[in-house]
Amino acid sequence: MPQKKKYDCIVIGSGAGGAPFAWRLALKGMDVLLLEAGPRYDPYKDYALDKVDWETKGFPYRTRIKYAFGDSQTLDNKYNNIKSWNKASGTLNRSDKRKYLEYQMVSGVGGTTLHFQGEAHRLHPSAFRMRTLFGVAEDWPIGYDDLEPYYLEVEKIIGVAGPSGIPSRKRSEPYPLPAHKLSYASQVIENGCKKLGVELLPNSVAILSQAYRDTAPCNYCNGCAWGCPRKDKGTVDVTFVPLAEKSGRCEIVTNAFARRIEVEKKRGVKRAKGVFYYDKSGKEHFVEGAYVAVACGAVETPRLLLNSGINQNGLVGKNFMETTYYLAVAFHPKRLDAYRGIPIDSVIWKWNEPNSKQGSHGGFRLFPTAGSAVGPVNYALRYYDGWGEEFVKNAEKWFGHAMAIGGIGEFLPNKDTFVTVDEKVKDQFDVPVAKIQSFLGESELKTLDFMAKTSKEILKASGADEIVEEFSTYDFFNASHVFGTCRMGKDPAKSVVGSDLRSHEIGNLFVTDASVFPSSGGGDAPSLTIEALSLRAADLLADKIKKG
Ligand SMILES: Cc1cc2nc3c(=O)[nH]c(=O)nc-3n(C[C@H](O)[C@H](O)[C@H](O)COP(=O)(O)OP(=O)(O)OC[C@H]3O[C@@H](n4cnc5c(N)ncnc54)[C@H](O)[C@@H]3O)c2cc1C
Ligand code: SF4
Repeated sequence: MPQKKKYDCIVIGSGAGGAPFAWRLALKGMDVLLLEAGPRYDPYKDYALDKVDWETKGFPYRTRIKYAFGDSQTLDNKYNNIKSWNKASGTLNRSDKRKYLEYQMVSGVGGTTLHFQGEAHRLHPSAFRMRTLFGVAEDWPIGYDDLEPYYLEVEKIIGVAGPSGIPSRKRSEPYPLPAHKLSYASQVIENGCKKLGVELLPNSVAILSQAYRDTAPCNYCNGCAWGCPRKDKGTVDVTFVPLAEKSGRCEIVTNAFARRIEVEKKRGVKRAKGVFYYDKSGKEHFVEGAYVAVACGAVETPRLLLNSGINQNGLVGKNFMETTYYLAVAFHPKRLDAYRGIPIDSVIWKWNEPNSKQGSHGGFRLFPTAGSAVGPVNYALRYYDGWGEEFVKNAEKWFGHAMAIGGIGEFLPNKDTFVTVDEKVKDQFDVPVAKIQSFLGESELKTLDFMAKTSKEILKASGADEIVEEFSTYDFFNASHVFGTCRMGKDPAKSVVGSDLRSHEIGNLFVTDASVFPSSGGGDAPSLTIEALSLRAADLLADKIKKG
């Protein structure tokens, strides 16, 4: 239960967008209430990596927010070469429609960063100007230089290890930690890249390469997606949340699901008055806030706003962008043990600039990874055919031999891709759930096709024998990076919030999560940008209040 009835600011959602905003305002002397729908996880107790059956356990979700899916896209046969398959099961989607798997969101203190791989990227400067440069998506109302000081500050808080010389990302200071060394499997791929004249650079990651934040360095167990049991990954719960709590002005209430933002109209002007939320037992509460910030992620933020009757020019939920993803796994004649190391220790940035390839807009990046080859269960389920003795022989021969290249690329907004609420499907609190509908455009299909072709060339040049698995978002929706449903922009007719993340419609309401992205970037991991935007918005608000 909150200690007070009224706060200077109520922040809803404690992920990459919510916690930094809450911390900064608390630091500036405001009394902040942070409402989080999920529980608090204890990294030392709750994660599965030290359990015998860790591989089948995955991330230990304790609560999940319910959502629904809309219409499915009919697959275009022209791209059947990028259908998902593996050696053990064959084609994974045998229908002619794209299948919805899941929106991989974590509900808990720290949000989806608890599950993330620790990649910490700055966006390519051209990715902020997609409309001006290529006539697609929309320009950001700010650019790389506006975010540079905030990128730097966040990198220091979360502890980013990275190299110098990532293309086009001008830095005013080096990364706070030295880059991680490449795993053996990545070195094999680096040699393949060299043969093709492609540069592979160490990745920039919020994973400790040296002792930092009073924490010992990473042990290279590759288990980041299971939740780091050592606090080595710069998730929000071990970085911004402790800072917010230390400020003495930020109260965190867990298992508090915000149902509705109360909006009042005084002399023709709308303002957010406070938030109705349910506690774990289903009891409803109301708290008042001078300001309200929504940071529930790009699916739950539009749901909350729409369920509160807030829909600036009908734009809330539009322009949803998801993850354009491809993975190829191959066997190498040598045992590489690709599961040793951090999950993504290096990146090929060559095609990340939005105009770097023919026929489609937006960039992408490729990276060596263990992919699905994280342990014996996944090997058995995906890569070996045959039964009985033949299966055992295959397992003995091939375990540890898998190598993989993954790729993530730009997703351009389109009219068939959006989030709305489904009045027919309700959650345990009788609140209509978010409905996600996503269709790939020609640009995403071409990007996936190009990623597949290039990844296979690199695997071959690296000495791979046989491809044993391909997975792509051509035939499956399986989003981990989502954006765009409350776009930021200068023009209130085309956007929901301004460059300060303040709602055009309601002056004391903010959206401080990935919903505000006008374009998705060329496969860059988004959390660093979300956190930088969030700190910037908090500074702008605090300055305005100070000036009266
Ligand atoms: C497997 C995986 C790997 C990833 N790897 C990376 C990576 O390496 N690098 C990277 O930058 N990004 C990565 N991402 C993406 C990254 O985690 C997200 O982009 C980021 O966490 C989004 O931040 P957010 O603030 O928008 O939302 P979230 O972090 O999802 O936070 C939203 C929070 O709001 C809460 N909430 C929702 N609705 C309500 C409500 N009504 N009331 C109260 N609380 C509510 C939720 O419980 C949640 O805690 C990965 C994601 C996944 C799934
Ligand atoms: S690889 Fe490092 S950061 Fe990731 S879970 Fe293991 S110890 Fe933690």
